[in-house]
Amino acid sequence: MIKIKSTHEIKLMQEAGQIAAAARAAAGALVAPGITTRELDNAARKVIEGFGAKPSFLGYNGFPASICCSINHQVIHGFPGKYKLQEGDIVKIDVGANYMGYHGDCADTFAVGKITEEAQRLIEVTRQSFYEGIKLAREGQRVSDISHAVQEYVEKNGFSVVRDYVGHGVGSELHEAPEVPNYGNPGRGARLVAGMTLAIEPMVNAGGYQVKTLRDGWTVETVDGSLSAHYENSILITKGDPIILTVPPVK
Ligand code: MG
Repeated sequence: MIKIKSTHEIKLMQEAGQIAAAARAAAGALVAPGITTRELDNAARKVIEGFGAKPSFLGYNGFPASICCSINHQVIHGFPGKYKLQEGDIVKIDVGANYMGYHGDCADTFAVGKITEEAQRLIEVTRQSFYEGIKLAREGQRVSDISHAVQEYVEKNGFSVVRDYVGHGVGSELHEAPEVPNYGNPGRGARLVAGMTLAIEPMVNAGGYQVKTLRDGWTVETVDGSLSAHYENSILITKGDPIILTVPPVK
């Protein structure tokens, strides 16, 4: 069942979204050659806790950190740790914040120093595919209208969308119904209604769409070793344009 959020719930989700986005920005601002992914994790956690929120991911199904940090051919769910970012890497930072029982979930891909033109284009296409997708995130459209728009844009640009992991409803649970795939035919799935809150998150590979999970049970990588990028925001469906919830707070 897809939950329609009340005005009060939406208010809390806006707070949670701003906190998650502030943490994503703080970790992203530190990205540079030589910094460890653990330092990024610490920075994000500090921001989240500074707002009186909790990292949604810490302990989620046993996940050991506050953010996911996935490097280069890693797609999602990488562990922060001792790895020092190197010039030319791309790093995906995925952050969730739980504020008074409601979650904000967002991710972005950051360049470490100078990166290749292909890597830069991959990051830009991934980000834009989110915006192409949310053009269809309006009351009356169906879930897979978003999916289709993401896939079409990504493939038109010569990249592929990951199929094994999908976007999702978000609210009092980090992952709620419906699933929001980044591929598929339009006109399928639930009809969107104002008050639904969704995490739209294209995961885009420079090569094939196939991925595998490492033996740590979490880290997902591309099978062909190609680069992967990720971009995510939590959004609110309205009667008009969707509202992006995961935007940094206005100071
Ligand atoms: Mg998510």
